[in-house]
Amino acid sequence: MKSKISLIAFFILITSCSIQYKTSESFKMNFNDVDNFWKVYDKTNLENSDDERIKIIEEEYFGQASNGLKILIKLDKLTPSSFNNFIKDTLFFNSIRETTLKIKEDSSKIRNHIKSVEKLYPKARFSDVYFVIGQNFHGGTVRNGKMIIEVQKNAKTEKTKSEIIYNNGFKGMNDYNSLIPLVIHEQIHILQKKGNSNELLSAAISEGGADFVMFLVTNQFPSFIRTTYEYGEKNEFKLWKKFQQDLEKDYNSIRKDWFYNYRRKDIHPDLGYFIGFKICEKFYNESTNKKEALEFLLNIANSKELLEKSKYNGGK
Ligand SMILES: [Zn+2]
Repeated sequence: MKSKISLIAFFILITSCSIQYKTSESFKMNFNDVDNFWKVYDKTNLENSDDERIKIIEEEYFGQASNGLKILIKLDKLTPSSFNNFIKDTLFFNSIRETTLKIKEDSSKIRNHIKSVEKLYPKARFSDVYFVIGQNFHGGTVRNGKMIIEVQKNAKTEKTKSEIIYNNGFKGMNDYNSLIPLVIHEQIHILQKKGNSNELLSAAISEGGADFVMFLVTNQFPSFIRTTYEYGEKNEFKLWKKFQQDLEKDYNSIRKDWFYNYRRKDIHPDLGYFIGFKICEKFYNESTNKKEALEFLLNIANSKELLEKSKYNGGK
């Protein structure tokens, strides 16, 4: 039993050591899977037989997968056969093709934002980003120190059409304009020292802090959260009162009032991001040493102290 436990501990140590975080110069953005995907897509469209199509996908997309796509294949249990059906929405894929290829050109913007984060916080380290075509299970996720972005789920423009995948409208698909701030938001999560995420204040500081640093360097919010922030600005004190009351309550009973509540029709989603953002903003603006302030703000275990030091009081 003991040897089993130490073996597991050893394995965890090995895996955590193998995660390499990079500087703004050395972190990589990988587009191979997107390029490969379009070659495979064109080839499969010349084939009528499903067996032939699946063979092409298996050999030339799955078989050539980057380390990021390999993780996603395992995580989402993607198979050449399910992928074959997924890419049959040619109306959709033809309409997003140009946008998915544009991210390569826009990658210099991402690197410049990452450089700005590093300038504000020289200790910052980042994770490689893999842009892939997946099957819509994740918009973006971070696994084993690798950030994996499903480009097709983040490629909505006014040109996007669909007859199968989004035949009920484009809910769940992100605007292409939101992709860059989203990548930065996720990179900030990598910098955060973890606190207790099962607690309202820490969760708000985690999400709102990631949004705050993202906004500091990009001056942009992802489009899906803009109305939440607009509503928040107009109702800040009222929201703050409720937030304070909810700090006393069991987190699980009030979580859906603040986070990941996209299905609620009665309130704006993710208002916890807004409150966390405002606390971090107040703290940062009041601090004279910005580098130290940022380091403190990224340590979620400090969330109670951060709130006290910020003297945040609902915008009053
Ligand atoms: Zn987040």
